[in-house]
Amino acid sequence: MTTYETVIGLETHIQLNTTTKIFCGCKADSWEQSPNTNICPVCSGLPGVLPVLNEAAVRKGALLAAAMHSEIRLTSYFDRKNYFYPDLPKGYQISQYDISLGGGGFLDLPMPDGSIRRVNIAKLHLEEDAGKTKYENGVRYVDFNRCGVPLVEMVTGPDLRSADEAAQYLIRLRQLLRWLGVSEADMEKGHLRCDANVSIREMGSTVLNTKTEIKNVNSIEAVRTAINTEVERQIALVESGGRVEAWTLDWDDAHKRLNKMRSKETEADYRYFREPDLLPLKLDEAWRDEVLESLPELPLARRTRFMTDYDLPEYDADILTGDRPISEYFEAAVKAYGGDPKAVSNWIMNEILRMLNDLGLMADELTITPEHLAAVIRMVEAGTINNATGKAVLAKAQTSGKSPESIVEEEGLAQVSDDSALQAVIDQVLAAHPDELSSYRGGKEGLFGWFMGQVMRETRGKADPQLTRELLAKALKGE
Ligand code: ZN
Ligand code: MN
Repeated sequence: MTTYETVIGLETHIQLNTTTKIFCGCKADSWEQSPNTNICPVCSGLPGVLPVLNEAAVRKGALLAAAMHSEIRLTSYFDRKNYFYPDLPKGYQISQYDISLGGGGFLDLPMPDGSIRRVNIAKLHLEEDAGKTKYENGVRYVDFNRCGVPLVEMVTGPDLRSADEAAQYLIRLRQLLRWLGVSEADMEKGHLRCDANVSIREMGSTVLNTKTEIKNVNSIEAVRTAINTEVERQIALVESGGRVEAWTLDWDDAHKRLNKMRSKETEADYRYFREPDLLPLKLDEAWRDEVLESLPELPLARRTRFMTDYDLPEYDADILTGDRPISEYFEAAVKAYGGDPKAVSNWIMNEILRMLNDLGLMADELTITPEHLAAVIRMVEAGTINNATGKAVLAKAQTSGKSPESIVEEEGLAQVSDDSALQAVIDQVLAAHPDELSSYRGGKEGLFGWFMGQVMRETRGKADPQLTRELLAKALKGE
């Protein structure tokens, strides 16, 4: 039996979150509003108009190139990519062909076994988006709102070896785009679109066989399923003596199947030539240096630093660098707390992340500051409040905006850790429940937790659990 290896390259289209479109003043984020209301003569391709390049799109594209370790070329060109489709009113798309903004580059993916898979970038260029068409009741409609929205197209080398690796690439790319603030990167909304080139070869071979291109995969899960479906089809085809043809396939997510769209165009079909309406894109060195200097520490580097500087497990470091605000929140809280970073990590992973999830917020939108969190951890550690009260105080600090210290003071939440006070409560609980007490003494030791619960209720959760357990154990034994 032959074993096969999967070879995957991904083409992604990333919508840059600029205010305006790439060659005109229309809004860039309004393509979901009512059809053909967010257009002008430039982006709808009327004759006699000229495109004007949006500097913000170039800046965001260059920042992304820098983060992908691509060369930011000081001179690049715009080209016309010619094809006919109803959503493309000019009959060509302004793109960059042979000499584009970014040259080369890579994205490193941390793999589950701790290794790093380097995915090379073959192309990184700026281009304009096309419009949309929809089919309804036998009529096809066109909507040009999205025409001219700035995109970066990024193509990887054939470096990915499984559907899971392809999914991992998209997860890390999405993380990076949000980290840089260059795109909302929401796949469901089409801010990040992905086509997958898929081929198979015998394990150990280095040839690149005929690939098919899967279009219209709009979620990480769809990428995984679509690639696996196509790999199974290609293997079955080759095993039965057939040959893979260079098809373009459309992923039908509702029915989880691939439909053949057309035989794929080759690049020659697009008749690329330089865009005569735009000058070469020339960047000066100072502008490029400024972009390079604005590049923040990248997620993977920060993840590694969290493991070395704070001695965090890989799992914690990965989650705490999931997005930039949470990573900054963590570092600020560690600084404010001054103790073991792992304690801060635990509180963030258990409490803060759950709160963010429930509220639908990012860490920088929370009312509780990193200093507040540090104060809660310190109070728990000092025994001023117990763990459960700490969690309750965090929730109250979030809704009220008050500091944890003032909440503890105003509501009298400080832990009861005074022996005689606790002993009095325990005696009272035991006296009030003679039946349970005799059952316990008769061997039903499972009632211990119930007695703990009664004491906690009497003290409104403020009893020091450790001390309560000790005193209660003695009292129950009649000591
Ligand atoms: Zn326009
Ligand atoms: Mn493209």
